[in-house]
Amino acid sequence: MDSRTVGILGGGQLGRMIVEAANRLNIKTVILDAENSPAKQISNSNDHVNGSFSNPLDIEKLAEKCDVLTIEIEHVDVPTLKNLQVKHPKLKIYPSPETIGLIQDKYIQKEHLIKNGIAVTQSVPVEQASETSLLNVGRDLGFPFVLKSRTLAYDGRGNFVVKNKEMIPEALEVLKDRPLYAEKWAPFTKELAVMIVRSVNGLVFSYPIVETIHKDNICDLCYAPARVPDSVQLKAKLLAENAIKSFPGCGIFGVEMFYLETGELLINEIAPRPHNSGHYTIDACVTSQFEAHLRSILDLPMPKNFTSFSTITTNAIMLNVLGDKHTKDKELETCERALATPGSSVYLYGKESRPNRKVGHINIIASSMAECEQRLNYITGRTDIPIK
Ligand code: ATP
Ligand code: MG
Ligand code: MG
Repeated sequence: MDSRTVGILGGGQLGRMIVEAANRLNIKTVILDAENSPAKQISNSNDHVNGSFSNPLDIEKLAEKCDVLTIEIEHVDVPTLKNLQVKHPKLKIYPSPETIGLIQDKYIQKEHLIKNGIAVTQSVPVEQASETSLLNVGRDLGFPFVLKSRTLAYDGRGNFVVKNKEMIPEALEVLKDRPLYAEKWAPFTKELAVMIVRSVNGLVFSYPIVETIHKDNICDLCYAPARVPDSVQLKAKLLAENAIKSFPGCGIFGVEMFYLETGELLINEIAPRPHNSGHYTIDACVTSQFEAHLRSILDLPMPKNFTSFSTITTNAIMLNVLGDKHTKDKELETCERALATPGSSVYLYGKESRPNRKVGHINIIASSMAECEQRLNYITGRTDIPIK
């Protein structure tokens, strides 16, 4: 399909699913991550690099072996990528290092979005992590507010909800030594998300708007389409598309939004890569988010509606499979119930089970959301009546 080699910084589950999409199209991939990482497990090549996506020398080693370099995680070393662009002018890096730099620091991301007229949660920098400065934040933003690490955040690790001034010392202790900013509490009724893929020539294609439901700060369920009026879906799509148009370069992006009681929509954050809220696309859409990313960074065709649901009646729920909190591998019982459920597909990532670790996901497809929910109830054990 394409003789170019795609290098991937990071070999976790997102890298693994990019590789799966690439394999189907005979596109060669090389991965930089630890030996036997999830992506390497399904890709037989002597060219993979053992090392870290945050180590400049390892990144350079990978760059020598590929034509197009991409990421499955934004916590990579941006100065190294910028140097590579100078050193290897023929090497394409997507998303662009500039975009990764604008997104990986969540406060810089907010400033960039505000500058481009995009509605975001009100945020203030916290230069000095002290009780006095956080008291001032509480006075300005009100309580509760969310203290957040600017960098290296995922699954809410890096966030602390400061409910009142008595909680300030604990917040400072939990997030000590991290660069911080603070966000006003967003009283949302739903969290919405959308995957948007941007082509080399700057066109944007949106997937359906979905609804994510978090448990303990980790995405638990994703409903596609979101259960909100069409007018809200359209507003969310326009907001997210405008946000993505403001970043240079191409590739797939995940946009997380808050839908407030007032009807207002605010962007929470953006990921410059495939995203958990887009896993449903593997079974529900014409093209998966992983293939869409490859098509974009390799400048392959992106025809009309290639990001739509496969049929007009497609409804989907994605359920994340997390390592059981008490008994190792017990979560596989959920996967077994999914195997016995019509319209359900199980994806396991080849990761060792640890409490609350994302080890897989399940996609449930049906022609109505009520039917998806019925299937979900059996899979999660809420009902024991198997679905025919
Ligand atoms: P991810 O795994 O999505 O990268 P993260 O660690 O970057 O997560 P955020 O997306 O900032 O964390 O926050 C995690 C969750 O915490 C959000 O999905 C939302 O449920 C809640 N949250 C974050 N910021 C706010 C806010 N300002 N107001 C209310 N809830 C919030
Ligand atoms: Mg995040
Ligand atoms: Mg998030």
